[in-house]
Amino acid sequence: MTDTRDTPFADGAAYIDGAFMPVRDARIPITDWGYRRSDVTYDVVGVWNGSFFRLDDHVARFRRSMQALRMDPAEDDARIRAILHECVRLSGLRNAYVAMDCLRGRPLPGQRFHPATCRNYIAAFAIPWVWVIPPEIQERGAHLIIASALRIPDRSVDPTVKNFHWGDLTQGLFEAGDRGADTCVLLDADGHVTEGAGFNVFAVIAGAVVTPDRGALEGITRASVAELCRDLGLEYCERPITAQELRGAEEIFLSTTAGGIMPVSRIDDIVPGDDRPGPVSMRLRDLFWAKRAAGWHATPVAYGDASS
Ligand code: PLP
Repeated sequence: MTDTRDTPFADGAAYIDGAFMPVRDARIPITDWGYRRSDVTYDVVGVWNGSFFRLDDHVARFRRSMQALRMDPAEDDARIRAILHECVRLSGLRNAYVAMDCLRGRPLPGQRFHPATCRNYIAAFAIPWVWVIPPEIQERGAHLIIASALRIPDRSVDPTVKNFHWGDLTQGLFEAGDRGADTCVLLDADGHVTEGAGFNVFAVIAGAVVTPDRGALEGITRASVAELCRDLGLEYCERPITAQELRGAEEIFLSTTAGGIMPVSRIDDIVPGDDRPGPVSMRLRDLFWAKRAAGWHATPVAYGDASS
């Protein structure tokens, strides 16, 4: 593979509205509604050891999100997949965080100031792998808080459409830092657990793996957790979870593209087990990475040379 360390692509490659460029040169117009209104949807797929994980699932969810927001960019799904391959190829990265965005765009000159008059377009980039929770914190188990900010209501912003409405989650991350924790989970107005700052949340209750059935992104890694539970003969259930149930769970873990299955060892200073990742969480995490190493749901990146 081409060594890109000394090239303009050393810190990643991007695509914006038809053109590829080094990520350091990628720009969004300041008048774009994607920026001024957070009027954008996105998805993130991981590349690990030179292969995408569940690429088709991410692109399919991205298309559903665009349709929900009435966005219709020029690129079809095959072109989006090709763009993602090209961003990774240009970067030369073997482990990458690969984002795809669809931005509303700008009202065309002379047109009424309304989102329907904007030309939607795709942006994408590949940068070195990002950990939502770094491996050393995963080893001891993340320290989680239930934040005092509530998740934006799902009738206002649909959480199954991946979005940039992170004001609530960002507040929660600052509160977690102030309270000496690593990250946060948010409740809805009825006191049910929704999701955290970039991940789905799971509780182990009476030996079953339970995760919220609403108020959260339908995570692709969450779908992988459901598959792994079947492999391991564990009961898996999507249903409402109260804050009290989460605090009283036998184990808690989190899931995301940028981190996989991530054990929790404390919640609001409560220590559910022995202050270490729990056994069910660890079985799932170990199996997740073992199956990934064996090519589970993998699509090799088209690096275009003999080494890939
Ligand atoms: N919830 C939120 C708010 C997220 O941002 C993410 C991922 O970025 C997830 C859940 C997990 O989704 P996935 O497993 O598809 O990465």
